[in-house]
Formats: sequence, structure tokens, C-alpha cells
Amino acid sequence: MPKRGLLIVISSPSGGGKTTICERLLRHDRLLSQSISMTTRSPRGRERYGREYYFIDKAGFQKSIRAQQFLEWAQVHGHYYGTLKAEVEKQQRAGRDIVLVIDVQGGLAVKRFNPEAILIFIKPPSFKALEARLRGRGTDERPTISGRLRHARLEMAQALNYDYVVINRQLPEAVRQIEAVLTAERLKVRKR
Ligand code: ADP
Ligand code: 5GP
Repeated sequence: MPKRGLLIVISSPSGGGKTTICERLLRHDRLLSQSISMTTRSPRGRERYGREYYFIDKAGFQKSIRAQQFLEWAQVHGHYYGTLKAEVEKQQRAGRDIVLVIDVQGGLAVKRFNPEAILIFIKPPSFKALEARLRGRGTDERPTISGRLRHARLEMAQALNYDYVVINRQLPEAVRQIEAVLTAERLKVRKR
């Protein structure tokens, strides 16, 4: 039977760089897969059902909550998002490490039910840099950006409840640091 894969959570405030960093990690790491979440928000740009998210309406999402299909779910910036138990189980059972790119409330919920989960928090170098990155990304309206920045201050306070904190100053360095965490966690002796 293959060794069970690791459960890794990567969180950051919106604009912190988690999507970009994960894309890079997945490009080079054949042992790693990303869990695809379910969401009630509409697809943006080139996003496709089953690639970035399973897009669903609110009634469908609530049905999945009732059927206990989520490892965790949360309301983020006015939409529902949830990690599907089946997505995570399938990969871990096959011995693949799975990464959840989710918000802070979701990350902490995962840790409550799965203490073995490895939580990595990505911090922007400053709020000024975070604001510039959110504006530079060009996907959000001005009021959305100020809401995300307000929320970011609350989320940053939760970094101390994570296992690792990586500052995303230069992208390649942040990616290297997370790769170092993954290497160490894979080498760790687990007494079970
Ligand atoms: P998140 O998924 O956390 O909301 P993104 O990955 O979408 O954040 O990153 C937000 C924006 O910041 C994107 O336009 C991305 O290209 C840019 N970005 C990410 N990391 C860095 C970095 N280290 N330096 C400069 N820009 C960055
Ligand atoms: P976006 O709409 O920009 O893709 O994501 C908005 C926020 O929701 C991000 O912080 C993202 O990490 C978070 N998110 C995405 N999927 C999930 C999930 O399954 N659970 C939780 N709790 N947050 C999620």
C-alpha cells in the first residue's frame, strides 16, 4: 500500500501570492496535486469548471453541506467556497501530497479536524506591496480592493496559528522556501 500523502494548506490574504506560488510549485513537483474547491462565485476570464473550481449555484452548494461532502467550507468575500472530502481522500490514498489553497478560516478548520495537516502562511512584505499587487492584478474593483485590504489585517493576525510563515518578497525565493518545507516534511519520521 502506498504511504499516505501529506495534507498541505497554503493561505494568505487576497493578493498575497498563493495562486502564483502554487502554480510554480505544481509545475516542478510531480508528487503534488492541488485540490479543486467548490464555489458559488462566477467564473472569471478563462476559468473553467473542474479546472480552477467546481462552479455551482447556492442551492447546490447547500445540498453538498447537508450531505457532509466538505472537509471545510467558508464564506469568503460574499461567496461560498468549500474543500471536498472526496478530492483530498482520493489523492492522499494514492500516496500523493495534496495542497489546499484556501483562506485562513478554512485553513484553521482543516487543522482542527486534521492536526497532521501542514499549514503554510504567505505574507506580503508590506500592506503597501499588497495593495499594489491587488491593483496590478486588475481583477478587482476599487471597493473590492479596499474590502480585501481591511480583511487582510485580520487574516495576518492568524499567521501565528500556522506552522510556517513565508514572506513573499521575491517570488523565486518564496517558492524555494516552500519547497524546502515540503522536502523537510517528506523526510520527517512519522510514528504511526
Ligand atoms: P492570491 O492568490 O493570494 O490572491 P495572486 O497569486 O493572484 O494572489 O497574486 C496577486 C498579484 O501579485 C498577481 O498579479 C501576481 O502576479 C503578483 N505577485 C505575486 N507574487 C509576487 C511577488 N513576489 N512580487 C511581485 N508580484 C507578485
Ligand atoms: P478567489 O475567488 O479569488 O479564487 O478566492 C477567494 C478566496 O477564497 C481565496 O482566499 C481562496 O484561497 C479562498 N478559497 C478558495 N477555495 C477555498 C475553499 O475551498 N475553502 C476556503 N475556506 N477558502 C477557499
